[in-house]
Amino acid sequence: MSRFFSEKYSRLVPYTPGEQPRDMEYVKLNTNESPFAPPPSVVEAARREAERLELYPAPEPVELCKKFASSLGVLPTEVIAVNGSDEILDFAFKCFCGKRHPAVFPDITYGFYEVFAEADGVPYEKIPLREDFTVDVDDYVGVGKTVFIANPNAPTGIALPLSDIERIVASNPDNVVVIDEAYVDFGGESAAGLIHKYDNLLVTQTFSKSRSMAGARLGFGIACEELIRDLNTLKYSTNPYNVNRMTQAAGCAVLDEDDLIKENCRTIVSNREYLTAELRSFGFVTTDSSANFVFARHPKISGEELYLELKKRGVLVRHFTGERIKEYCRITVGSAGQIGILLEKTKEILEEKK
Ligand code: PMP
Repeated sequence: MSRFFSEKYSRLVPYTPGEQPRDMEYVKLNTNESPFAPPPSVVEAARREAERLELYPAPEPVELCKKFASSLGVLPTEVIAVNGSDEILDFAFKCFCGKRHPAVFPDITYGFYEVFAEADGVPYEKIPLREDFTVDVDDYVGVGKTVFIANPNAPTGIALPLSDIERIVASNPDNVVVIDEAYVDFGGESAAGLIHKYDNLLVTQTFSKSRSMAGARLGFGIACEELIRDLNTLKYSTNPYNVNRMTQAAGCAVLDEDDLIKENCRTIVSNREYLTAELRSFGFVTTDSSANFVFARHPKISGEELYLELKKRGVLVRHFTGERIKEYCRITVGSAGQIGILLEKTKEILEEKK
């Protein structure tokens, strides 16, 4: 640490992103990316826009917001485009949390929530998930804090029904409830339709997963106009050009590829069911995932050992060190070919353990 680093951040423990090693070609099942390349029309749109890189992008991506809003049945003024949904989550901690509005989220969830809370000096509480990793909705009903719930949750993949989300939103009218829908397209129910009913609901979504655009960094916030205005105040006070030209163009193009994206999602869901069934037949315990990953542990091998043994064999999965989840690995649902390799290597590892 330099002697100039602000005291405010000196004790910050940064978020650890999934590793992106370059020492060899891995079967990469550790960061929940899509196994599908973006559609050619999306690549072409980005390429065309690259020819105009001498110009700043539009600070307000009107076309993109219009198209995205209409796909959800909301108004363009009810959405904000951001640099990956991490940015909107960061904005939400900054805009809607503080001493009067402490944050609350599950003990096992997306690790970035705690990092944002720490970075922003926001007081926060972590509520333990039940033993089976489900959210006890009653813990959040009338909790009187700014609620952050990933639905489906990560890294468990477990989803809450929309009726439970609505109970949480309705019972906390004086606090914002943020529903992080990064994985909603793989089996969750979106709460976006509720923004006209509740002025305290912020839904966040991303084009990183189902839309094969993790490298482009595009996410959205969806909320009533007043909340979106607050979020825009922060955006224009930090980085007005937060979504670059190529990403804006690619985002517009991918919204015209809905049939293909839906088909990709159906393939991932069916691959997930196959992967889950196979892992269970090997003796793994897995959660019921509604996301594009499977969360699994095996009674005969620790989470860390499985992760390391798979890595040795060229397959990357994600292992977390948190006390309650250290026996698990989170495995992204890849293509049929990737799953085949993962299962073959896993079998090999388990055989050697016998
Ligand atoms: N929310 C959850 C639950 C996630 O797992 C991720 C991906 N790591 C994000 C948000 C952020 O995704 P992105 O910034 O790529 O939109």
